[in-house]
Amino acid sequence: MAEARLARVIKAESMGTGARLLTFATVSSELGFTGGQYIIVNTGIELEGGKLAKRAYSILSSDNEQEKFQLAVLRIGEGPGSNFMHRIAVGAELQFSGPWGKFLPDTTSGPRLVFATDTGITATLGLLRGRQFRESAAETTVLWFVESDDYFIPASFARESIRLEYARFESVAAPPVGDPSRLDRALALVDRSIGARRPSCAYLAGDGAIIYPLRERLVAAGVAQDRIRLEAFFNNPDRKARS
Ligand SMILES: Cc1cc2nc3c(=O)[nH]c(=O)nc-3n(C[C@H](O)[C@H](O)[C@H](O)COP(=O)(O)OP(=O)(O)OC[C@H]3O[C@@H](n4cnc5c(N)ncnc54)[C@H](O)[C@@H]3O)c2cc1C
Repeated sequence: MAEARLARVIKAESMGTGARLLTFATVSSELGFTGGQYIIVNTGIELEGGKLAKRAYSILSSDNEQEKFQLAVLRIGEGPGSNFMHRIAVGAELQFSGPWGKFLPDTTSGPRLVFATDTGITATLGLLRGRQFRESAAETTVLWFVESDDYFIPASFARESIRLEYARFESVAAPPVGDPSRLDRALALVDRSIGARRPSCAYLAGDGAIIYPLRERLVAAGVAQDRIRLEAFFNNPDRKARS
């Protein structure tokens, strides 16, 4: 069973129409994460059937700092996890497990493509701000496919957080989640990017309905499958049950 850990909310800020940026201080030990990883929050809310609502949130702050960390959460309708994260007050303790995840830097050389949809930007920000990723200093194209500038954290915040001299960041307007034209638009964007320069590794995060087909496209274009990292936040075709 995963170890239950605690962190205290030290700051909470609203962003856009439905995002909340939370800063936490760890209680008793350092977090011990690598940029790109996530934690699983135990909301303590009992769902129908008696299971507790536990939800994953990627750490968007830099792994240079291990005693404080940041999460950004989009409110999803009446969803128990995101609403809990929008309610939690400064001073309250958060119960979580982790860090978890294999969305980790590939330290071999060559150009890199980082593609996030929607809230998937958090995992890519954590990755891009991480020590190992920055040390390899390879040319990096960052594409964020997102509905609008007030859908989640603003593009200016994402751009400012990255600030890598070898990274080019572009935020591209996306049709809403579930729109039938969404995949074709994302594929066209990736085709344009790899037409200009084929990456040697790629990081894809966010909507599983988009990033899995994008991986196929990259493999067809000659990118080795084992050099493509995926982190599906929702519509994950590989996941039938949530932990
Ligand atoms: C590895 C990982 C990291 C994640 N990191 C973040 C993060 O940093 N910030 C964040 O806001 N969320 C993140 N999520 C999503 C998060 O875990 C929850 O799924 C989300 O907060 C909704 O939970 P809920 O209980 O409020 O709603 P639920 O009732 O559980 O969710 C309702 C439905 O919305 C889907 N959904 C989740 N996110 C979106 C979205 N952006 N757009 C459309 N549908 C969505 C869910 O899959 C579900 O089908 C991450 C998920 C994973 C697997």
